[in-house]
Amino acid sequence: MKIYNSIDEFNQIKENLSNLVYVPTMGNLHYGHTSLIDKAKQFDQEVIATIYINKLQFNDKNDYLNYPKTLDKDLELLKQYGCDHLILPDDSILDNIKNIKAPSKANKLCGLNRPGHFDGVLTILNKFFSIINPSILILGKKDYQQFVLVKDFIKEKNLNIKTVGVETIRERNGLAYSSRNTLLSNNNKSIASKLYKVLKDIELNKGSLSNDLLNSQIKYLTSNGFELDYLAVCDTESLEQSLDIFKKDLLVAIAAKLNNVRLIDNIVMTKL
Ligand code: AMP
Repeated sequence: MKIYNSIDEFNQIKENLSNLVYVPTMGNLHYGHTSLIDKAKQFDQEVIATIYINKLQFNDKNDYLNYPKTLDKDLELLKQYGCDHLILPDDSILDNIKNIKAPSKANKLCGLNRPGHFDGVLTILNKFFSIINPSILILGKKDYQQFVLVKDFIKEKNLNIKTVGVETIRERNGLAYSSRNTLLSNNNKSIASKLYKVLKDIELNKGSLSNDLLNSQIKYLTSNGFELDYLAVCDTESLEQSLDIFKKDLLVAIAAKLNNVRLIDNIVMTKL
C-alpha cells in the first residue's frame, strides 16, 4: 500500500492513476470499514482510502478531541485487506476550502441536534473528490442520512461518481461496529446492543406501526440509561416522517447517547 502524507505528495503521482474506488474514513478502523474495502476490491480497480478526522463535521469540540486514533493498527488492517493507496492529509486540506451548504434534508434526523454537521461532511468530500477524482465511492449505510445526502450531492453536481452503499456490519449481539464503541465499557457495549433490538422490534411489529409503538420503545431505552436524540421512521429518500409501511419501504433510524457516547443505527423495513 502506498501512503501519501500530504495532498501535495499525492498530487505528484495522481496523473498515473485512474478509475479509483474511494473509501473515505476517519480512522480507528474496524470490520465496518474493512467491509467497505472488501466491497471496493470487488470492482477490480485500484482502491484508495483516506483517513482524516474532519473537524468541520464536529459541533462538539470534546467529541472531536476525544475521537479515537489508532493509526498503526489502521495501516495494518488496510494492508491486510488489500487497499492500494492511502492519503493521510493534515489540516492544511481545509485551507481555502469551498464551503458546501447541505440541502434541507440535512436538518432532519442527525442534523436536528448537529447543525452544520452535513455541511462539513459534504465540504470535505467535495474536496476529496476534486483531489482523488474517483469513479466509484463506497459508503456505509450505517450513516444512512450521510449516504443519501452524498448520493444526492453527486447527482446534483453531475459528478461522474457511482455511489455504492454497504450494509451495516454488526457485532454478534447486534451492536453496529463504530469507532465510538471503543469509548464504551464492556457492560455498556452490551446495553448499547439494545438499539438494534429496538429497531428489530419495530420491524417485527411493522404491521401496527404507530407513534405509541415508538414511544414505548423510547421509554424502554430511556429506562436502560440512554439519552435519546431521535427515534424516527421515515421515507428512505426524502427522509420525511412516515408510518405508512403499506406504501413504501421505510427507514427506522435512531441516535442516542449512552454514558455520553453518541451512537447511531438504522434498518430499512420492507413494505407490506
Ligand atoms: P467513519 O470512519 O466513521 O467516518 O466511517 C467511514 C465509513 O465507514 C462511512 O461510510 C461509514 O458509514 C462506514 N461505516 C462505519 N461503521 C460501519 C459499519 N458498522 N458497517 C458498515 N459501514 C460502516
